[in-house]
Amino acid sequence: MRMPMIAGNWKMNTTVGEAIELVNEMRSRLDEIDNVDKVICPPFISLATVKELIKGSSIKLGAQNIYFEEKGAYTGEISPLMLTELCEFVIIGHSERRQYFNETDEIINKKGQSALKVGLKPILCIGERLEQNEAGLTAEVVTKQLRSALVGIDDLSKMIIAYEPIWAIGTGRAATGKQANNTIGFIRQTISQLYDKGIAQNVRILYGGSVTAANASDFVQQYEIDGALVGGASLKTNEFLSIVRLTSEIKGSLRG
Ligand code: PEP
Repeated sequence: MRMPMIAGNWKMNTTVGEAIELVNEMRSRLDEIDNVDKVICPPFISLATVKELIKGSSIKLGAQNIYFEEKGAYTGEISPLMLTELCEFVIIGHSERRQYFNETDEIINKKGQSALKVGLKPILCIGERLEQNEAGLTAEVVTKQLRSALVGIDDLSKMIIAYEPIWAIGTGRAATGKQANNTIGFIRQTISQLYDKGIAQNVRILYGGSVTAANASDFVQQYEIDGALVGGASLKTNEFLSIVRLTSEIKGSLRG
């Protein structure tokens, strides 16, 4: 069975002080919830502080980005190696980075390879734009993104994939559980072709895009969906806790 996961992408929100407040608010209640990986991804500047705050808890830490080189003259960038002291996961290929920072499939592939090389677990985001969705191109787009991102990567055991339709991110217009389940099922099939059936069955695939406490159950009750990458709602303690709790309960009851 795949361990469910809820990851909170705080994006470019929270000062260090605000991050401390948020973690203090959610830490003990989040820690109590079992049978789901709980990951928070604050901005770089708060990683070291948050790491200390969550020490001894079951909460895991992720970063929102990396550069693919190990070190050198890349002013302002953070390398995977630097992050290994701070966190376990790193988000790569987020649509906001593709859109605003011109990250190509090739760059994302390099980021994935360099993260895995030092033992960081990438949360690889893929997803189609609205017009691609409306033109029936979802499968084609996610296949292309997936194939490019996975070039040269033999071991998927440390990789998490997040299907995030761009039209659903931050818009309040989430996909339906069924739609997301179909696309994620398709992603699994593609992985099965690229690797094998066992690998495809074991890889965790999340849904992301306007997930809230009100719609989370619609997603996590689907067989193919292993949890969610949550943006806006991850900054609201009660909302985030509800999503994590629902996931633990629903996935737990599906397991029997
Ligand atoms: C995200 O940032 O990955 C995301 C899914 O955002 P939101 O939940 O706000 O749509």
